[in-house]
Amino acid sequence: MTNETWGQVRNALKTSVGENNFNAWIDPIRFVSLDASTAHFTVPTNFIGSWVSQNFGDVILRHLISAGVPVERVEFNVDAAHASKAVNGTKAPAATPAQPEARRSSDDLPGATLNPAYTFANFVVGKPNELAHAAARRVAEGRDVTFNPLFLYGGVGLGKTHLMHAIAWELRERSPDARILYLSAEQFMYRFVRALREQDTMTFKQLFRSVDVLMVDDVQFIAGKSSTQEEFFHTFNALIEEGRQIIISGDRSPVDMEDLDARIASRLQCGLVVDLHPTDYELRLGVLQHKADLARAANPSIRIAEGVLEFIAQKVSTNIRVIEGALTRLLAFADLVNKEISLEMAQDCLADILRASDRKVTMDEIIKKTCEYYRIKQGDLVGPSRARSVARPRQMAMYLCKKLTPRSLPEIARRIGGRDHTTVLYGVRKIEELIAVDSQIAEDAELLRRMLEE
Ligand code: ADP
Ligand code: MG
Repeated sequence: MTNETWGQVRNALKTSVGENNFNAWIDPIRFVSLDASTAHFTVPTNFIGSWVSQNFGDVILRHLISAGVPVERVEFNVDAAHASKAVNGTKAPAATPAQPEARRSSDDLPGATLNPAYTFANFVVGKPNELAHAAARRVAEGRDVTFNPLFLYGGVGLGKTHLMHAIAWELRERSPDARILYLSAEQFMYRFVRALREQDTMTFKQLFRSVDVLMVDDVQFIAGKSSTQEEFFHTFNALIEEGRQIIISGDRSPVDMEDLDARIASRLQCGLVVDLHPTDYELRLGVLQHKADLARAANPSIRIAEGVLEFIAQKVSTNIRVIEGALTRLLAFADLVNKEISLEMAQDCLADILRASDRKVTMDEIIKKTCEYYRIKQGDLVGPSRARSVARPRQMAMYLCKKLTPRSLPEIARRIGGRDHTTVLYGVRKIEELIAVDSQIAEDAELLRRMLEE
């Protein structure tokens, strides 16, 4: 990569992260070199390095890739003039494969990067996640494999990936020789498809079956992908039979994952299944306080007025990633204008996030609005009637629940009259088909959606 390419990427980044973030965080970093798929940058301070790595590492990587740079990792080091210590080394030591002859270069190691910030020490425990945290801790002790497999599930941004990385870090520390493999289900699939293409599935199988601990994140990704699931199932069984630990995460419970191979689902249920619940106010505030403490420790000039963190915890949605993003943005802004973070600044600076968090549609609202719109009774909509005048609005409600809420088909089925989830799937597809050919239905769907979202 040339400095010119980096210049183009910087411009793209400015648009994507916004002027304030750009000036505060991206502008100070300097491109140094690209080697072995790692782009190296220097940063003026440790603090900037950590923020950039944690909050902008992904965006920078994405933009580099879309500019055609052959890169898989980004690394930020404090300028050699100041120190040569790597900040937040984003490349984690990869798991050691058992078949050395099978690996040609380190790029071939299948482990994903572990985020150095995702440790147990940085995980704030509250009611919604205490069970998941306790289970993760227990597995991370690595003494016996009573909880096997451990299945963690929950909505987006509730800490699944964080907990998995924390387990991996802890296991690595406790048993440096253990072969621990952490990767996303997507990467698993990618490896598998590549092995098929290269007619090298033996190596693939050997590699995956040689690990002591296998961690697969976001397993919902392979639901419905039949040959990958088949391979995953075999790997899974082979490891379980040998008493190796398996840890898996997903966005919903195994029973609610519609396209997941039934054998995998039942295997998963044999282990320990724990969920991360949507956050409550206390947990959100706890996370904010923790992050604010970290930021203040790194930069003592940061000042946050009383009530600001409470305000964010109250107003911003349940997703911890969004909450963190809000705080990061505020910190960057305050740093830039060199002022204390006030309530007013928070309201101003976070207007878009606050608006988005206001607009959470629930299944109850959908049912209510749909009934008003079609002038039918709620009892009829969720009841057993098969009359056409009720059946179509019911399908519309199912469709809207699927599109506007994060609810799964079985959850929608339970809320709308205790039906089977295939009925919901049928209803959703029916409305999708009709929208394409029937302008009246298309208009109904559009109007309802607008009424619900505003
Ligand atoms: P998921 O994998 O469930 O979508 P992540 O693990 O990626 O969610 O978490 C999203 C962000 O929120 C991460 O930056 C993570 O560090 C942070 N986070 C989630 N839960 C906690 C927690 N309990 N304490 C501190 N940070 C958390
Ligand atoms: Mg995740």
